[in-house]
Amino acid sequence: NSHHSSSNFFRKPSFSGRVPAGIGHRRLRIVVTGGAGFVGSHLVDKLISRGDEVIVIDNFFTGRKENLVHLFGNPRFELIRHDVVEPVLLEVDQIYHLACPASPVHYKYNPVKTIKTNVMGTLNMLGLAKRVGARFLLTSTSEVYGDPLEHPQKETYWGNVNPIGERSCYDEGKRTAETLAMDYHRGAGVEVRIARIFNTYGPRMCLDDGRVVSNFVAQAIRKQPLTVYGDGKQTRSFQYVSDLVDGLVALMEGEHVGPFNLGNPGEFTMLELAEVVKETIDSSATIEFRPNTADDPHKRKPDISKAKELLNWEPKISLRDGLPLMVNDFQNRILNEDEGKGL
Ligand code: NAD
Ligand code: UDP
Ligand code: UDP
Repeated sequence: NSHHSSSNFFRKPSFSGRVPAGIGHRRLRIVVTGGAGFVGSHLVDKLISRGDEVIVIDNFFTGRKENLVHLFGNPRFELIRHDVVEPVLLEVDQIYHLACPASPVHYKYNPVKTIKTNVMGTLNMLGLAKRVGARFLLTSTSEVYGDPLEHPQKETYWGNVNPIGERSCYDEGKRTAETLAMDYHRGAGVEVRIARIFNTYGPRMCLDDGRVVSNFVAQAIRKQPLTVYGDGKQTRSFQYVSDLVDGLVALMEGEHVGPFNLGNPGEFTMLELAEVVKETIDSSATIEFRPNTADDPHKRKPDISKAKELLNWEPKISLRDGLPLMVNDFQNRILNEDEGKGL
């Protein structure tokens, strides 16, 4: 029977049925853990607009329903309040595993919980991927390189991480999560993808999450001094969120396990960042120096040759172009906050 020879017949069944979502793309059912957070909610928007079915799992530790409220009522969208430290049964084609606090202030708040999220949460999602044959993507971090002795950092660098420091719950947690992913890949044949994400910014970041971009932008809008920690000469490389989301999807859809650095190689000192924020929001903003936190990496910049070559991906939006894109969102939320206080 000739229709049986169509290549579709040999494809893995899709859990959302056989309705094609568009030419060359069959509709998938996708779980995004941590989908109510900053990066997750932007990723969910992209998957929904592409025509897929999305299930978000989130315990709302740092995520907010407001980030997803525009999708409530969409029959292809579902939001589940669930902690990934506990097992869960679902039938899905792909798992984007983002659940984990990302800001140092948040992940140090309850370090043991951060480790449980990274280890038990990742184990559960890999167990789920194994049971249903789903592809699994881990959002790891540039923090696996610690305070790097190699600059810029390539994926082959093993890192310089303090195993007993205040940041270890996150750094070592993510390193263990990478190990688990590779062991499920080698041992159980799970299709895994590993992204090492560098500092990312954009609309929907938590207002007071303590990260440097959100701090500076909120401070400039509130007419407060920009707080530079240490001497401000430490560097970071800042990526706009839509570039990251494009990279995550390219990685998930591609044929390579990784790990892949996903970041913008544009490197800035914190003092330079403060200058860009001043140019963008308020040239009269002042700078206030504060003591730095423990184990703060001195520099960080991704080498993205591997992602360029194998994923055909590179970021498109520079810091000067990206910062203005988050100002409106921050202004509106700060305004709402002020009105709330006035009531
Ligand atoms: P975020 O804090 O905005 O989002 C994390 C989400 O995970 C939140 O919605 C939170 O409620 C949820 N969550 C946390 N613990 C959970 C648990 N136990 N069960 C269920 N949900 C849980 O952070 P983000 O910036 O969107 O980061 C997303 C992912 O990307 C994280 O895994 C983070 O480590 C990684 N990452 C982000 C950056 C960055 O600069 N934004 C850099 C490197 C890596
Ligand atoms: N798990 C889950 N959902 C599933 C399948 C597994 O949450 O659909 C959890 C399971 O409870 C276990 C973890 O994933 O804690 C690892 O599962 P696996 O089957 O790999 O290991 P085992 O259960 O044999 O320890
Ligand atoms: N930082 C700063 N002022 C702030 C918040 C952070 O100067 O208000 C510095 C911090 O010391 C670090 C850098 O900015 O050197 C990036 O910090 P962030 O918490 O954003 O991310 P991470 O350390 O995880 O890269």
